[in-house]
Amino acid sequence: MKKRPVVNLKPREGRRARAGAPWIFSNEIAMEAATKALPPGTVVDVKGDDGQDFGSGFFNSKSLIGLRLFARETGAAADEKFFAKHLARALALRERFYDRPFYRLVHAEGDGLPGLVIDRFGDVLVLQITIAGMEELLPVLIAALNKLLSPQTIILRNDTPSRPLEGLEAYVRVEKGAAGRIAVEENGARYFADLGQGQKTGWYYDQRDNRAFMAGLANGRTVLDAYSYTGGFGILAAKAGAKEVICLDSSEPALKLAEDSAAANQISIRAVKADVFEEMTRLAVQKERFDLVIADPPPFVKSRKDLEPGAKAYRKLARLAADITAPGGLLLLASCSHNIPLERFGAECTAGILRSNRRASLIRSAGTGPDHPVHPMLPETAYLKALVYALD
Ligand code: SAH
Repeated sequence: MKKRPVVNLKPREGRRARAGAPWIFSNEIAMEAATKALPPGTVVDVKGDDGQDFGSGFFNSKSLIGLRLFARETGAAADEKFFAKHLARALALRERFYDRPFYRLVHAEGDGLPGLVIDRFGDVLVLQITIAGMEELLPVLIAALNKLLSPQTIILRNDTPSRPLEGLEAYVRVEKGAAGRIAVEENGARYFADLGQGQKTGWYYDQRDNRAFMAGLANGRTVLDAYSYTGGFGILAAKAGAKEVICLDSSEPALKLAEDSAAANQISIRAVKADVFEEMTRLAVQKERFDLVIADPPPFVKSRKDLEPGAKAYRKLARLAADITAPGGLLLLASCSHNIPLERFGAECTAGILRSNRRASLIRSAGTGPDHPVHPMLPETAYLKALVYALD
């Protein structure tokens, strides 16, 4: 058998990995010519300058995160058995929380599987691979998934913006079965998602608990679900007895799915296709007010250099949303940007609400549900922030 390559760290480097983190950055790695020449995604043993074993990992000289450890022992295999073990563990964890097979089945490092995300919609699995090491192992991974779950459909949605940074091409492929519209069951409601080839759509399981929280307050109230996508918040609020629900989004196909999902749940919503900033401004001028306002925008801070303009956009959104929140109403402001910390996001939300001349108290600060486990040594990967304010 070919000897496995060894990647060495620079003297005294690997501090976080020593403490249990699964990432080692490229500037911590001794980039000798032979190391640099390893193809992206090579499985390697990792050793410290002092000879200490760090374990087994995926190496990519092109990536900022040069090493992703998948085992604490050197010589560990990334084979079907490895996947079978981690997938079974991930599945068992989800089955403790959810009685229907609709959830994020694998959340990368949080489930011990670096660079891999799997969303499960009953018999349909949607995979997202973000690192070269995982891409190399795709056939083994598919074999393990077929054995564990025998899914009817497997879709590879490998078109995330981070892939080029790993030297990976972007593509969407139906690996097994057929893509198309599927049903999603969540919080006792029925939704639709379209997993059509080439279309960047799907479902955001990460807001499940926050949708339930807001819906619990919706009975008899008016609701504005801004950046509604396919109606995740709005449909559930309507089902919980909201008096009126507006789903506001710029995407026509997403709103069509929201309308169809409303019909399937025998409730009604009003779908409005518009830009959120413009429509909120218009509603404010018309003195429209809503008891519940939800604003769950796309990431405003896509990379670290966007922090300042992105933070400003969150502040503006908070102001516009507060302007149309009724006295005594509730406002949920969310951010799915990795690149803005909770403290900063909260500060922008507060500043925006104050600009609207409203007094507010923060009644809930939440993130994703338990199907998005976070590796305890990578707390910064907990990306979702959802703050709920009660406005006077
Ligand atoms: N709240 C949704 C997820 C929102 S994803 C849920 O619970 O599932 C972000 C959404 O914002 C997308 O549907 C996208 O079409 C929409 N969007 C992006 N920019 C927009 C804009 N300027 N105005 C309105 N909608 C926008």
